[in-house]
Amino acid sequence: MELAFSDRLDESLVERWQEFLKKYYWERILELSTAYPEEKSLYVSFSDVNRGTELEFASLLLEAPDVMLRSAREALRRIDLPTGVSLEDAHVRIVELPKIHRLQIRDIRSHHIGRLISVEGIVLKMTEVRPKVVAAAFKCQKCGHVAFVRQEGRGFVEPAECEHCERKAPFRLAPEISKFVDAQKMRLQEPPEELRGGEMPQILDVNLEDDIAGVATPGDRVVVTGILRSYQRHSHYGKSPFFDVYLDAISVEREEKEFEEIEITGDDEKKILELKNDPHIYEKLIRSIAPSIYGYEEVKEAILLQLFSGIPKELPDGTRIRGDIHVLLVGDPGIAKSQLLSYAVKLAPRGIYAGAKGATAAGLTATAVKDEFGDGRWALEAGVLVLADKGIAAIDEMDKMDKKDRDALHEAMEQQTISIAKAGITATLKARCAILGAANPKYGRYDKYEPPAEQINLPPTLLSRFDLIFTLMDRPEEDADVNLASHILRTHYAGELLATSGGDGEEIRLIKPEVPPPLLRKYIAYARRNVFPVMSKGAMRMFLDFYVGLRRQGYGEDAPIPVTARQLEALIRLGEARARARLSDVVAEEDAERVIRLVNYCLRRVFVDPETGKLDVDWVAVGTSKSRRDRAKMIKEIIKELEEAGDGAVPLEEILDVAESRGIERAKAEEIIENLKRDGIIYSPKHGYVGIVR
Ligand code: ADP
Ligand code: MG
Repeated sequence: MELAFSDRLDESLVERWQEFLKKYYWERILELSTAYPEEKSLYVSFSDVNRGTELEFASLLLEAPDVMLRSAREALRRIDLPTGVSLEDAHVRIVELPKIHRLQIRDIRSHHIGRLISVEGIVLKMTEVRPKVVAAAFKCQKCGHVAFVRQEGRGFVEPAECEHCERKAPFRLAPEISKFVDAQKMRLQEPPEELRGGEMPQILDVNLEDDIAGVATPGDRVVVTGILRSYQRHSHYGKSPFFDVYLDAISVEREEKEFEEIEITGDDEKKILELKNDPHIYEKLIRSIAPSIYGYEEVKEAILLQLFSGIPKELPDGTRIRGDIHVLLVGDPGIAKSQLLSYAVKLAPRGIYAGAKGATAAGLTATAVKDEFGDGRWALEAGVLVLADKGIAAIDEMDKMDKKDRDALHEAMEQQTISIAKAGITATLKARCAILGAANPKYGRYDKYEPPAEQINLPPTLLSRFDLIFTLMDRPEEDADVNLASHILRTHYAGELLATSGGDGEEIRLIKPEVPPPLLRKYIAYARRNVFPVMSKGAMRMFLDFYVGLRRQGYGEDAPIPVTARQLEALIRLGEARARARLSDVVAEEDAERVIRLVNYCLRRVFVDPETGKLDVDWVAVGTSKSRRDRAKMIKEIIKELEEAGDGAVPLEEILDVAESRGIERAKAEEIIENLKRDGIIYSPKHGYVGIVR
């Protein structure tokens, strides 16, 4: 009986839809009729309905969308077309709901059930497209009568008795005459930028049918308009009084927003252009990154450039060169790496912070899973890098990453895609994000005498994809310690003042960014939208000279090839980003000079072989040890051996003896031991003895 009721049409509604469609959508309907049945949907903007009909008609569409859309569909079906085509299975799909009916997932309430709403989100998960029966044909096994039963809800509906012979006969489903549509299930997640400080993103499941199945992929930003439905939950105690909701999609609109979502008013633009004329703007911008963190000017500069980004390039032969700048911070624990990461994420438009062990099965990349979400179908789930498309992915504790993620990162960092081939699902998802990684050294503390590749616990192939690698060491140094300590004390003090009085005294200025974060975000968005700098001749020559200069160091006797073309690309990207930071259309010599300085700073600390004092990218990229740099390592090994042989601290003389027997002069060995001590790798428990710090 239920079925009969829901099938009944309100003729007056059908008529009004017909009037409306003929008046406002005639051209589109004609177009559809020529493309039908390859195209099956007539997209109707809600604002047109609002303008073209009485107010109450439009609000009925919001409040009783089932009835209204069935009427609309029937109206479309009945329209006489000059083409003679009948739009039997066409849909009327509503798009562009006004902003007030556009909800965040967390704002969905019970009064929305049964209504037409729009929901914004990012596609987290998506099943394969599979047929779903919409009209199931049942054949009565007693009298042979065939009855069609509409399948609209979540469960499968079977006839109770035969409508012809009225017996509760067994029925046989006849798939060959049943009617199917394509169906897909999708899981939406709240966009990360809508989340405030560590909130867990909420999700909403969406059903897609027919021609809107298979149009979106995980990682896409979408606005789904649909009818909110509910279903009863089951618990251990049987049926539960709690209901869950899902959305029956009417339309899916894709969004390409990234920095576009940051609104810039005329007033903002004035402020931005004022900043542009400030001769110290670049320094000010750097100082506005994480002012509560002491020091790290170079790291902050790198994060700033990362936010501005270089220019991605599509070459005529189809290759794409990324504009995103990848930065890695490697260093001792407790030196504010995680803090810097979370600050960067707050400034970025689509920043996502991820520990290496992600909360989802998809981890950093993406995965195909078969779980209850897909009802036995495979589903593709997006991980952090896909969700951070066009933003920044901050990956903390990269050293603890899964092997699977690590492998996929190679592709993600250079091609900026993530490919999945599993269980018959093949997909390529976009992951155009800049990566800001942090890693702790493998043995707890960073040891500059060990090749970085061995300590960072990341494969050299991955390390070489970072544009900038910072090695940060926490070495006791009286002056720096006092400065850092007093900075932290003052920061906390200012925070306390802020918490009690909310005032703005001298102390509070310390932790106040010079360019406040909202304006900084706008400034960056403005630059990324409007500024596409081109290299000047001078800058090009400087990059070339610097690069060739680096290479030349490798042409000498027995040195490995030091610098790869990746470093040249890094320079160009950084130069573009720096020009953007000045809102300049030209990468000028001053930009080149500045980024060369930054690159040099990193190279010196990571790539300089501490034994030879020479730049050597193989130090990072291959991790091989040339004989010279082996010495410090050998000394360490000798100490280790002797420690294990004896008990604890080892006499200095004994080490020098063994070192000599292995070909290291005593004086040289002594010097190395002093260096190791200074770097906190070994210590001296009593005079004339040393041990390894653990
Ligand atoms: P990491 O991730 O490197 O192990 P964290 O980011 O967790 O370190 O930092 C540990 C704590 O020490 C944080 O509360 C941080 O604010 C503080 N800290 C460390 N170095 C600094 C610094 N240079 N300036 C301000 N705070 C610092
Ligand atoms: Mg940390």
